[in-house]
Amino acid sequence: MSLINLNDVYKQVILDHSKYPRNFGEKDTDDYIKIKKYNPSCGDKINVYIKLNNKKIVDIKFTGTGCAISMASASMMCEELKGDSLDTAKKKIENFLNMIIGEKFDETLLEDSISLKNISKLPSRVKCATLGWKVLEELLILEENNFE
Ligand code: ZN
Repeated sequence: MSLINLNDVYKQVILDHSKYPRNFGEKDTDDYIKIKKYNPSCGDKINVYIKLNNKKIVDIKFTGTGCAISMASASMMCEELKGDSLDTAKKKIENFLNMIIGEKFDETLLEDSISLKNISKLPSRVKCATLGWKVLEELLILEENNFE
């Protein structure tokens, strides 16, 4: 497969997630904790809701508005981190953020989100791709402090 075809496959995956976001929906109940974040450089807004049980993410949802990359990335994150322990989730977030800023990363920890790899070459879109993941990271840090 040529590099050009591979990029087309990536593009298809991103478009599919932005058009049909997975785990999209509000969860305004007491058993969910939530945070919202805003990316002023593009106008993306994302709310992330998680339900934890025994230091595990048993459910994760998001809502928001924004560009295709921000929505697709949040959708991928929900799909890939649902069911993970807090430690695994933190590791996956760090790994994803490394990929987006062009640092070394572990491909085996990524599923569809690997399709966002080339964002590292588009600095103006980095904030779009990382927004959802940063919201979740903040939620997890908040929760960790509650456990201690
Ligand atoms: Zn954006």
